Amino acid sequence: MNEEIKLNDCQLCGAEAEFKISDDDFLWIVCTGCQANMSCRLPSEELSMSVLARFWNSPISEEEKGRAA
Ligand SMILES: [Zn+2]
Repeated sequence: MNEEIKLNDCQLCGAEAEFKISDDDFLWIVCTGCQANMSCRLPSEELSMSVLARFWNSPISEEEKGRAA
């Protein structure tokens, strides 16, 4: 894991988020609390981690909050 990549706490429940890697080597982010996750998956490589982290850390819309609730 790259220590420089910081994931904000989940915007829905405030729990920690973490990177997951699928069996077929794709990377995404999931919340350890409410299991909220990104629909976006990228190939498992270092650049993908920073791209995903930027998405995760950006404010989510009210629409997305409603869908996850
Ligand atoms: Zn959450």
